[in-house]
Amino acid sequence: MEHFPLFLDLRGRTVLVVGAGLVAERKVALLLAAGAEVTVLARAAHSRVQERAASGQITLRLQDFAPEQLNGAWLVIAATSDAQLNEAVAQAAAARQLWCNVVDDAARSSAQVPAIVDRAPITIAISSGGAAPVIARRLRERIESLVEPSIGWLTALAQRQRAAIRKARPDLIARRRFYHWLLDGPVHDALRAAQPEKAEALLHRALAQGEKTTAGKVLLVGAGPGDPGLLTLRGLRALNEADVILHDRLVSAEVLQLARRDALRIGVGKTPGEDHEATQRRIHALMVRHARQGQTVVRLKGGDPFVFGRGGEELLALQQHGVAYEVVPGITAALACGAYTGIPLTHRGAADSLTFATAHRQGDAEREEAPHRHTQVIYMGVERLASHGAGLIAQGFAPDTPCALVENGSRPQQRTLHATLATVAQQAREHAMASPALFIVGEVTRLGQRLAWFGETLTPEAAQQPAIALAA
Ligand code: SAH
Repeated sequence: MEHFPLFLDLRGRTVLVVGAGLVAERKVALLLAAGAEVTVLARAAHSRVQERAASGQITLRLQDFAPEQLNGAWLVIAATSDAQLNEAVAQAAAARQLWCNVVDDAARSSAQVPAIVDRAPITIAISSGGAAPVIARRLRERIESLVEPSIGWLTALAQRQRAAIRKARPDLIARRRFYHWLLDGPVHDALRAAQPEKAEALLHRALAQGEKTTAGKVLLVGAGPGDPGLLTLRGLRALNEADVILHDRLVSAEVLQLARRDALRIGVGKTPGEDHEATQRRIHALMVRHARQGQTVVRLKGGDPFVFGRGGEELLALQQHGVAYEVVPGITAALACGAYTGIPLTHRGAADSLTFATAHRQGDAEREEAPHRHTQVIYMGVERLASHGAGLIAQGFAPDTPCALVENGSRPQQRTLHATLATVAQQAREHAMASPALFIVGEVTRLGQRLAWFGETLTPEAAQQPAIALAA
């Protein structure tokens, strides 16, 4: 180990910062956040440093550096742009056995400032010892996304209740068990659900009556459309906590790869032709069984769980069985396909309303006027396309209404077929378009012919539209 990590209590202690430019200002802000008494020494100071001095946050000495100015300091930071001056500061500090950080100069520094993840009272510091700060910062981003903010709130709660916990659990082993229960159980869940009072009440009840072994729970998570970059951070954390993952067929392998290695993965996707109700009942039973065993179950669904995903039904089943749940939204296919085809789902002059629909109940659709300046996004298997396109024309849509069929939206194999309502079924057959595919109908799809940036775009000649007067 080339560097020994150490956390300093700087509250009320003097730290000398030599230099008063923007680099110094960033260090000053950090030191003030840690409660240090900051003295800044420089010939001239950046306006922000001057403002801090004027408002009494720091002491500013507009002087040349001399070793005596180290008197009274616990720590020194050299943040000037003058390498010689930085060197002089470092040497003077070393002569007095004072720790000194020279900003961006590991060789001259006896102390280094790490990359920080702040979940106060938890602090995570990452350092490459100056070897490759970019790598340390990348790691920091990874950790930042994985350590949820509620960890900080939970730690603060434990800190406030420390004496009560000590009193109620004098035995070390019992106390340790209690802390594990805090982390894994309903108190943490309540904090995550933004219910701090409930968390506190649960903690006190458990102290008085004993904590029950953690009941399991189900996290209903939207996996997004396929590109793993479109998973939310909360979704990623859920995948890292999962003991069991029940996933649909639509969930991409790339997303599944992000899950905890030792999580049990069960594919519960519905295949065409099987009894969907029976599969759905089996999914409910699996969720309830694993949660009752105390496990964290992630029910992972393509797109968003509440958009044509039967998410509501699954929650009702969990509620019926008294199983706790959380919901993490995902990017639904409509939003992803719009973005990844350059088709803005609303656009001034072209569409000011938007419908997400599924074709499965087409037979029941009422006959309506074709809405003006409207975008329809239809979630369905491609095999229904012919009847659906014809259905829309029967409803009064013009046969030359522009539309797009997006296959494998956001995935590397994405293909977008531009067509009209009259031609789309035929074109889809010719290009052997397959599910999963999303059908977008409306003027806005023409913009996709101009704004496409991802995957393959198929624009048969008949669908090529003159650039119409769409608001730019
Ligand atoms: N809950 C999902 C939708 C499930 S219904 C969501 O919010 O996206 C299944 C339908 O979604 C498919 O038939 C298809 O029409 C659409 N779909 C899902 N992912 C897709 C993708 N990556 N590309 C195109 N369409 C997709």
